[in-house]
Formats: sequence, structure tokens, C-alpha cells
Amino acid sequence: MIKVGITGGIGSGKSTFCREWESLGATVIYADDLAKQLMIEDQELVNSIKSVFGDQSYHKDGTLNREFLAQEAFAKGRVEELNELVHPVLWERVAEIEAEERAKGTTIFAKEAAILLNNGRPTDLDYVILIIADEQTRIQRVLQRDHTDSAKVKERIKKQSDFMELSRLCDYIITNNGTQDELKLKAKELFHQLLEL
Ligand code: ATP
Repeated sequence: MIKVGITGGIGSGKSTFCREWESLGATVIYADDLAKQLMIEDQELVNSIKSVFGDQSYHKDGTLNREFLAQEAFAKGRVEELNELVHPVLWERVAEIEAEERAKGTTIFAKEAAILLNNGRPTDLDYVILIIADEQTRIQRVLQRDHTDSAKVKERIKKQSDFMELSRLCDYIITNNGTQDELKLKAKELFHQLLEL
């Protein structure tokens, strides 16, 4: 099983690239989505978030109080604290899924995560792919997708890693300044290239 990490900044096109890979038969773990799911479903994690950030971190119906937690974590500079709670549970779950996929005979197993390279390149990955696009293009795409405002998108971009600096840790850099079809074609070509290596 070939293990691949796919990373890039907000709106770069990671998910679009990965959905193309899924259609070709890869299994893709979307780290952000899985983390959000675990923050609701994993009772131990729920308890630890409540004890560190307070019971208000969750609504009465058990859903995450995103506004409160974003305020606590991002506005008060406690993102690392939150990550320290979530990441071990997340990576343990990813390891379980990986073992299941290996047993199933999956050929390409990919992890899509914006924060993949923050502690250096994970040693277990065979390849790391970075998706890039011009900042203005990314902002426009995110504005269309999320109905937010450009100041908020710029703020999020500022808080993310400098992906140009991290590109030295990557094996392939995919530029996504053209159409979605062009991105999908690049995804397809790289998928087949990796299978042939
Ligand atoms: P995030 O980190 O915010 O989850 P992402 O890197 O996963 O973003 P996508 O969600 O794939 O990025 O792309 C952002 C938006 O831009 C989506 O609405 C997607 O459909 C659109 N998009 C991606 N690539 C292109 C393209 N080449 N042309 C036009 N729209 C695109």
C-alpha cells in the first residue's frame, strides 16, 4: 500500500484533488473532517476538551460549540492546547483505518491535512504532495464556497504555515491556477505515475 500525504493552504484545492483520487480508487482520510467527527463521537476526547476548555465547549445536544471553542482556541492563542488533545486521538484513529485498508488490499492510502508538515515530514509517508494556487485565486474560491468575507479568509491564511517554505519537504508540487478539470487531470496523471513507480 502506497501512503501519501496531501497538503496545502486554505482553498488550494486539496479536497478537489483528493476526490479525484477517490474516484480512481484511493482511500482518502480528510484529517479535518475526521477530527471534527471525533470531537463529537469520542467520549474520552469530549471529556478532555470539556475539562480543559470548559463545559461550554459543547451545546446541550452534544454538538460542538464552535464559536466558543474558536474564541478560546484561536482568539486566546490556545490552539496548541486544543491540538494536543485532538491530534493523538486523530492519529490513533487514522492508524486503525490504515490497518483496515491494508487488510482490504487498498493500493493508495492518502491523508489530506493542512497541518501535515508542522512537525517536519511524517516518516511513515512514501510521498508528500503540496497543492498550491495564487493567494487571490484561493481567496476568491473560498469566498464562493464558504460565503464568508475576504478579511476572514486572509486572517486564516495568515495563521497557516508558509507552504512555500514547507515545499522543500514535498515530493510533488501541483499548481492549481487553472480550471478544475486541469486539476483533476493532474491528479489522475500523478495517481497513475505513483502506481507505476
Ligand atoms: P480547505 O483547506 O479550505 O478545505 P481545499 O484546499 O480543500 O480547501 P477545495 O475545497 O478543494 O480546497 O477548493 C476550494 C474551492 O475552490 C472549492 O469550492 C472548489 O470547488 C473550488 N476549486 C478548486 N479548484 C478549482 C479550480 N481549479 N477552479 C475553480 N474552482 C476550484
